[in-house]
Amino acid sequence: MIIAIDGPSGSGKSSTAKQVAIALGYVYLDTGAMYRAAAVGVLRSGIDPEDEIAVANAVRSMDIGFCGDKILLNGEDVSVEIRRDAANKAVTPVSANPAVRDLMVEKQRAFARNHNVVMEGRDIGTVVFPDADFKFFLTADLDVRARRRMREAPEKLGFEAVRADLQRRDERDSTRAHSPLRKAEDAREIDTGHLTFDEQVDKILSIIEEPKHGGK
Ligand code: C5P
Repeated sequence: MIIAIDGPSGSGKSSTAKQVAIALGYVYLDTGAMYRAAAVGVLRSGIDPEDEIAVANAVRSMDIGFCGDKILLNGEDVSVEIRRDAANKAVTPVSANPAVRDLMVEKQRAFARNHNVVMEGRDIGTVVFPDADFKFFLTADLDVRARRRMREAPEKLGFEAVRADLQRRDERDSTRAHSPLRKAEDAREIDTGHLTFDEQVDKILSIIEEPKHGGK
């Protein structure tokens, strides 16, 4: 069983997907964390994140995986480092790199072969699992998303800086050539701006639990 949850940063994907996975007893996979870990590895090697060939070679030799809630890069827990501003910046070109995407998508598909999974990202319903059992696309107004991200960031950044960074990432994620951020035609769109966290989770669960209203 595959449940795909896509949407822009701060739309509530991660927290919602995690809770939906707990409620269903499924495994949760945060694909953004995988691209972020790759970006941290690239920064640590001193490679220019825009250098496509060098980045592809570096990421090929990285071991990226999960241990419970933690994301590991070559066995080291980088869960905090992936949320820092440097990673926010580097992840955009790293995740737009076609070779990096091929590597990550292969890992994501392999993971779902052995698990019932709630997977969140940008391209899960469109590219990774176009035949997912359920697809959701979460959205929210930019200001709402910026306020949420401010609360989560390990560094204290001002509202305007966080807002501008989200806007920049949305723009590049939506316009890149390879697997741009977009809603799958058959995905349910949910605007989380006016919903509480519990309402978001309940809305998704009620659709999944009533197949005639939801999946394929
Ligand atoms: O979801 P999160 O904000 O952690 O994702 C970080 C970045 O990783 C996104 O801005 C996007 O560039 C990239 N990403 C992606 N495809 C995914 C998940 C994330 O390109 N499936």
